[in-house]
Amino acid sequence: MHAKKHKGELPCEVCEFDFKKKYGEKGALYIEAHHKVPLNELDENESRETLVEDLAMVCANCHRMLHRSPYQTIKELKHWLNAFNSKR
Ligand SMILES: [Zn+2]
Ligand SMILES: [Zn+2]
Repeated sequence: MHAKKHKGELPCEVCEFDFKKKYGEKGALYIEAHHKVPLNELDENESRETLVEDLAMVCANCHRMLHRSPYQTIKELKHWLNAFNSKR
């Protein structure tokens, strides 16, 4: 997995949370990979390798939120988060 940014920083694609900034060395390069394509929508008979483009790098919190139903895309969650936070 290639980090977009180096120096051990790998911010979440939704909220920009960075494990290294929060947890120091323990959090360096820690991030979760989320499939942008819902796995159940892929043809199960089709043997398909996971492409890097299919994955979004997200923090554990956003990852859980993405998997809550109804299914949300990265874009939707990000939009929601921005709208929600700007109200405060
Ligand atoms: Zn996040
Ligand atoms: Zn996921």
